[in-house]
Amino acid sequence: MKTILVAGGAGYIGSHMVVHLIENGYNVIVADNLSTGHRAAVKDAPLYVGDIRDAAFLDRIFSENSIDGVINFAACSLVGESVKKPLKYYANNVMGSVSMLDAMRRHGVDKIVFSSTAATYGEPEKQPIEEGDRTEPTNPYGATKLAIEEMLKWSSEAYGIRYAALRYFNAAGAAPEHGIGEDHAPETHLIPIVLQAALGKRSHIGIFGQDYPTPDGTCIRDYIHVKDLARAHHLALEHLENGGESGVFNLGSGTGYSVKEIVDSARRITGRPIPAKIEPRRPGDPSTLIAANKKAEAVLGFKPQYDLDVILADAWAWHSGHPDGFGDRA
Ligand code: UDP
Repeated sequence: MKTILVAGGAGYIGSHMVVHLIENGYNVIVADNLSTGHRAAVKDAPLYVGDIRDAAFLDRIFSENSIDGVINFAACSLVGESVKKPLKYYANNVMGSVSMLDAMRRHGVDKIVFSSTAATYGEPEKQPIEEGDRTEPTNPYGATKLAIEEMLKWSSEAYGIRYAALRYFNAAGAAPEHGIGEDHAPETHLIPIVLQAALGKRSHIGIFGQDYPTPDGTCIRDYIHVKDLARAHHLALEHLENGGESGVFNLGSGTGYSVKEIVDSARRITGRPIPAKIEPRRPGDPSTLIAANKKAEAVLGFKPQYDLDVILADAWAWHSGHPDGFGDRA
């Protein structure tokens, strides 16, 4: 049985990864500092609580377990916060990955699947966005992820560590059958906020701008189910296990929905009215982000299975069943 270290495994995407790997016969070890993750999101795997920047912490994990590969979700991931606190993002994201790669090198672990982001592209030159398109991040969050991608490339050449860097578009949905879903504080993402408005926990959803150059004037994004994301990481891991080449892959559905379309679909799925108000644009939001997803399909064999209705239905099942998330906030 292979053993995988999932760093950030108590977080939103990481916790879905842990469940997926266990279901697929892997032994899973979780490392998380619980700064934004939830202990209750880690159901059936040992949890090491600590910071991946701490070399002694990683040495303990790699010595106590025979780790075959690493999936690293441990990072700060709020675009707006990154603009206000760039050093926090460089310190946490870049230094965390330096520390993880160095521990892998010391302990002879040679495979890593890394959480990257569509924010590495910045303002796209065309749609859908391909992996070889220009990368000019417009915020520190995207810049730190791009810096780590570069570091992976050089580490791969120098130390023989092979990697898959997965550039997510908009992760959404939940796995209500496993009692896990999205729980951020503060919540900034569209779908959870829309569903909180459906639950009456917010008075309305504010739509950030309706003067974008899109058919209904609101921003278009490419939403991908978190369970599809987990499966894509598994396929990327298998690709590396089978000796496949390192690379960067978009993970998206290839289909875009506007903010208004999301709100309308959420009204239909929940049967709730969901009041909406037009508000000013949010600084730094590109008008449209849609993934070209053929490379992941061709190289990893990955094709998303779940459409927007399933994403919204699963997210709704989680939020309506857990209106206070994991219920672990003071
Ligand atoms: N959005 C919105 N109201 C909100 C939160 C988000 O109109 O309360 C919009 C946001 O401007 C963007 C889209 O919804 O166009 C998706 O935003 P989110 O923060 O979920 O993801 P991002 O694309 O920024 O990673």
